Amino acid sequence: MAILALDAGTTGVTALIIGADTGILARGYREFPQHFPEDGWVEHEPGEIWAATLEATRDALAASPEPPTAVGITNQRETICFWDRETLGSVRRAIVWQDRRTAAMCEHLRATGHSDRVSELTGLRLDPYFSGTKIAWVRDNDPHTWAHVESGRAAIGTVDSYLIARMTRGLHHVTDPTNACRTLLYDITTGDWSEELASILGVPLHALPQIVPSYGAFGSTDPSTFLGLSLPIAGIAGDQQSALVGQAGFDPGSTKCTYGTGSFLLTNTGTDIVRSPGGLLTTVALGHPDGHLTYALEGAVFVTGSAIQWLRDGLQIIDSAPESEVLAASVPDSGGVVFVPALTGLGAPDWDPYARGTILGITRGTTRAHIARATLEAIAFEVRDVVDLMRAESGIPMPHLAVDGGAAANDLLCQLQADQIQIPVDRSAELQTTGLGAAFLAGIGTGVWSGLDDLRAARRTDEVFTPGSDGEAAHQRWRRAVERAKGWLDDD
Ligand code: ADP
Repeated sequence: MAILALDAGTTGVTALIIGADTGILARGYREFPQHFPEDGWVEHEPGEIWAATLEATRDALAASPEPPTAVGITNQRETICFWDRETLGSVRRAIVWQDRRTAAMCEHLRATGHSDRVSELTGLRLDPYFSGTKIAWVRDNDPHTWAHVESGRAAIGTVDSYLIARMTRGLHHVTDPTNACRTLLYDITTGDWSEELASILGVPLHALPQIVPSYGAFGSTDPSTFLGLSLPIAGIAGDQQSALVGQAGFDPGSTKCTYGTGSFLLTNTGTDIVRSPGGLLTTVALGHPDGHLTYALEGAVFVTGSAIQWLRDGLQIIDSAPESEVLAASVPDSGGVVFVPALTGLGAPDWDPYARGTILGITRGTTRAHIARATLEAIAFEVRDVVDLMRAESGIPMPHLAVDGGAAANDLLCQLQADQIQIPVDRSAELQTTGLGAAFLAGIGTGVWSGLDDLRAARRTDEVFTPGSDGEAAHQRWRRAVERAKGWLDDD
């Protein structure tokens, strides 16, 4: 028994074949083009995502010793697609989660008093990040597409929905709660689309997908459109929720951090909806087949691995990302240097789009090694600030932090992280847990694994970093530096 996991990310699609022992049997990967039609706009051509999905899958199948028996899908969240229900061709390009074109619309919705109610229903904030205002933008600016939406000819959905429509030849228009809850149109308390939110945003509910559980088969791929495969589609989850599953984060207090370009933390709060006055998001972690939902608190730190990229490409003080560790380890500390990598503003918990990168404490003795060390420390401080808030707001004990993502390969970073949060940092043997999570869901959904306990047992640790000295003084200095980085840009 093997599972095909499709991880449709922001820059490319990964296809994994996962064996019954949860090991990776084969992989395929294809990048697809990014489109930037205007400053701050980011678009994808859904047909290009579909083509990359087919090619990545073809490569994985060719390399796999076993054919898959089910498929699970995980995807970049919030990105919104519009396609023709008959031809399945896209009616316009998808608007990507990174796209900021609806900033003014969000401002207007706040000014007209919708902010509190939207947060109460969705657990989110009025920010261009989420899908709802992107759909409203299409209504206001793309009459051709909107006419098709209103007539019922065009379907709207996140990337999971679009791929499933393609894979089932238009038979299914579905999504799962982990994706639905990122649209601003889903009520996390009822677990369904909300008429009230639809009317605030002016989006017709008939154009949205049916919501199905995150695991359990609801339909099959059509061999005529999906490489001759007739596979039950048995797992769906947004990328961050899928990574939590890949880390076997099924219990309240289970927390994961994925260190990629940015870093994303999720902490499982069980069946409790925990509100976050401090700036975290409340989100659905999983929708179960019996209809109940598991919730999570989420914190996003925008610039972490990308600060390492900046050391490499901007400052050119390292040749490769792993070299950051060697250079930082060549000095015992940052020599008093603090780097706030607010290169694109600050996310949770400070939420300041006007903040910019700031390096403080430079002296005649400062070297590139101190800057490299200050960069790794900054990532650990940023993640600690989110962890502190999660612990305070959820009130649920956090036994350890499960980590994954490309930058989690950095031992020094993992150790600095453990020192900062004073709980063990447990690095997963598989750093790319997102696809693993989708396979886990599809495998539970089709009985390859009997339940969550099987997966708890299957999760493998690479290394555990135990907390050493607490780094409290360094953290206080960091907080002072963050205050100085805030509000740097003028409003205009
Ligand atoms: P994404 O999925 O966001 O593209 P990945 O999980 O592939 O990210 O991780 C890539 C990021 O991790 C890059 O930003 C890179 O700079 C950073 N990175 C990779 N290896 C290391 C390392 N050894 N130390 C620090 N950062 C690293």
